[in-house]
Amino acid sequence: MLNSRIRDVADYPKPGIVFKDITPLLADPAAFAAMTLEFVRIGRELGATKVVGLEARGFILAAPVAVNGDFGFVPVRKAGKLPGEVHAVSYQLEYGEAVLEIHRDSFQPGDRVLIVDDVLATGGTAAAALQAIGECGAETVGVAVLLELSFLPGRARLAEESPVLPVTSLLTV
Ligand code: IMP
Repeated sequence: MLNSRIRDVADYPKPGIVFKDITPLLADPAAFAAMTLEFVRIGRELGATKVVGLEARGFILAAPVAVNGDFGFVPVRKAGKLPGEVHAVSYQLEYGEAVLEIHRDSFQPGDRVLIVDDVLATGGTAAAALQAIGECGAETVGVAVLLELSFLPGRARLAEESPVLPVTSLLTV
């Protein structure tokens, strides 16, 4: 059901790229709820206490997971968006560099974090989030994504950071 609600958009954001568009899934309440409950199940199984959502689509996915699973929600944002003291991690994009930030006081001792995002591609974004969470003193217990692009090395990139970290994708292409 989830698979049929993801649309391929050719040549976005650049010629030659086929973008996986999740907006049809978000517009379908049954599919959105099914996805959310699956993430909640994963979070509970891993004993998560907090869910980290990655700007921007990760926010949409992670927020209902936090509410339904009784987890705290923590945003990881692009540079310059968070008002408090932040920890920043820079990471490589295809061309150039980007920076992700997290509030330094996002976690309490004993917090167990599940990272939630829509798509795992090269893994650079999730790996940067993993680093930022670790540098804030919290333990990441898993990464959960809606869709993994298995022709890209996202899973291997995360394994470089943390070889035993569970990485779960609800769908794989
Ligand atoms: P990565 O850092 O290369 O793994 O890219 C993952 C990030 O880029 C995620 O935060 C996604 O939201 C976004 N992303 C990459 N490819 C797609 C896509 O085809 N559809 C939607 N988001 C994508």
